[in-house]
Order: sequence, then C-alpha cells, then structure tokens
Amino acid sequence: MNFFDVKEQNREVSPIFLRKLNKIMRKGDFVLGSDVKLFEQEFSNYCGTKFAIGVNSGADALFLSLRCLGIGEGDEVIVPAFTFIATSFAVSYTGAKPVFIDVDARTFNLDSSRLNSAITKKTKAIIPVHLFGLCAEMSEINRIAKKHKLAVIEDAAQSHGAKIKNKAAGSFGDLGCFSFYPTKNLSGCGDAGMITTNKKKLYERLLQLRDCGRSKKRYLHPIIGYNSRLDSIQASFIRLKLKRLELWNRARNKNAGLYTKLLKDVKGLSLPIVPNGYRHVYHIFPILTKKRTMLINLFKSQKIPFAIFYSLPLHLQKANRCLKYRRGDFPVSERIAKEIIALPTHPHLKSAEIKRIATCIKKVHCG
Ligand SMILES: *Cc1c(COP(=O)(O)O)cnc(C)c1O
Repeated sequence: MNFFDVKEQNREVSPIFLRKLNKIMRKGDFVLGSDVKLFEQEFSNYCGTKFAIGVNSGADALFLSLRCLGIGEGDEVIVPAFTFIATSFAVSYTGAKPVFIDVDARTFNLDSSRLNSAITKKTKAIIPVHLFGLCAEMSEINRIAKKHKLAVIEDAAQSHGAKIKNKAAGSFGDLGCFSFYPTKNLSGCGDAGMITTNKKKLYERLLQLRDCGRSKKRYLHPIIGYNSRLDSIQASFIRLKLKRLELWNRARNKNAGLYTKLLKDVKGLSLPIVPNGYRHVYHIFPILTKKRTMLINLFKSQKIPFAIFYSLPLHLQKANRCLKYRRGDFPVSERIAKEIIALPTHPHLKSAEIKRIATCIKKVHCG
C-alpha cells in the first residue's frame, strides 16, 4: 500500500502515452506545442472558464497570477496560515508581503470571518486555498473582496474538480491556480501547472508573462517576462489523465465515504466535514487526533502509509521569520499542525486497505 498511487495511474495511461510520445518526438514541438493548446482548451472546459494558460508549476501559476495583477513591493496579500508554503512564497517573490490569517478547524480552509480584520489600505488580493480537495467559502470571500476592491486568486493545487453548487474550483476568483505535480489529483510526469481565468486582459498578459514578456511580433518584449512555459510531453500525459479525473475523483469520494462510515463514532477523532452543496475531491483524508504519536507508531509497525500535512504553519516557518509572526498568533493553525494526520484516499486504494487503516485508528482510540 502506498500513500499516493503514481505507479498505478501510470500503468493505466502509459501504453497510450508512449505512442503519443513517439508522435511528439517525430514532430519535435516540445514547448507550447499542439498538445499544450488542446490541454488548455480541455482544462478550461473542465473548469468552466473562458481561458486556461499552461505554465511550469503550481508555484509559478501563483506567482504569475500576482504579477499579472501588478502586485509587488508595498502591497499586502492575505494568505491562510495553514497551507503548503508555495502559497506564501509566491507573494514574497513579487516583493509584496504575505499577511496570514487563521483557518477553520473543520474545513482546514481560510476562516472568512477573520478577513475584515486583516484588510488594510495596502491589501491588494486574497489567496484562498482549497486545501485537501475542499473549496474555501468562495461566496463570502468574493463578497468581501468585492466590497474592498481586492483581487481573488484561488490556490486550487489540491482540488481539480472540487465544486460548490456545480461550479468548479478555479472558476470563482479572478484567477485559479493549479499544480500537476505527480502526486496531485491530476498530475504530470514531472512539474506542470495551469492558470484559469474568465478575463481576457489577464489572459493576454499571462501569455506574455509566461513566455519572456514577448508580444506576438518577434522579438519585441513590451514587459519583463519569465520562462514558465509548459512542455508538450507534460500536456499530452496530463490530457490522458484528465479523461479519467472524474472517475478517479468519484473513487476518492467512495474511499472517504468508507472512512467516514467506519470512523464516525470514534471518540477523540475529528473527521473532515463537507458543507452543504460542496463537492470534496479528497486529495487526502485529514483527521485530527490528540493521540497522533501513538497512531503514528502503530501505523509504522503495521506498514500503513500516512503523511503529516502540515507539521508547521506558515507563520512559524524559518523562511518567513522576517514577517515577524509569533507562536500563538494563529491558534487554530497551530493546533491543527499538532493533531493532523493524513490518510491515503487515492483512487487505487482497496476497501480492505481502508478497513485495515480504520481498525488501527479504532485500536488507538478505543482500546
Ligand atoms: C502543490 C501545491 C502548490 C505548488 O505546486 P507546484 O506545482 O509543486 O509548484 C501550491 N499550493 C498548494 C496548496 C499545493 O498543494
């Protein structure tokens, strides 16, 4: 049993992929080739947005999104204190300041009731993260953003296909950022990312930013750009997986349903919640327990895969010490970091494996 199913997924797509790879080799359109264009169309379709722009990685998707909004030195961007560090690094790269706010202990997402007190004259944007496969509270976040004229950039790196009332992650804000890192719900055979948007102006600026700031006329460069282009090989591989994403996300939901059924009455355990009308895509299955050390020891002895996402909130990371936050600033994030343990939910997980994991958890909490 593995925590992620990269190998099983590869086995499903690699026969067709290798044939496609041969074609790409003969054609030689390695960077921003026809597969990239097709992938962008298919992915924007999947998310229900007008545009999608393939980039190098999820981290780049976030950085370029901030750059295309003109965010930089002197600006502030609100970021949840509990997420993967790339969310806040993207802000730091631009010279702007990440301003952290605490999260909700039941959804693990940005607590929108804390937004107002974090907004200052310098605030330019909010980056809600759809953590672990569950969308943040987008209607409330968008309402507050609109009131204060702030941009909204969704970090959807863990939530391809997550929804609120049938509207997909990546289609709520001004921009949606996706990662196709090999362990994500939709993934490449290497690094890759995507930005979604409905705004033509942002789309056109992003096309320039990802490709050395060039205009359509060669070699004229009206703005400082970057090299954040997407490879055809990645695009062709991910296109094959995109066809399976709904099936795989359904399997993840089935796995989560079984965990919930087996664990819902266990005392001392907190299970993830799904607000009404939300569709979770369970990148992982996060649980909170005060008996984490005991559980980890049992998992290790039983060779059960697990992960600790994330053991330290962003405001306490050494890399962010210049932001001058302290322990105690975000008590919910700090408690989650101490109590969280992630269980596998990948689509190739077997019911018997989930039952075995649940039995261990019950043993630690009931025995
Ligand atoms: C993976 C991830 C990223 C970064 O994506 P990369 O493709 O690895 O650069 C950003 N935010 C979150 C929440 C992630 O999980």
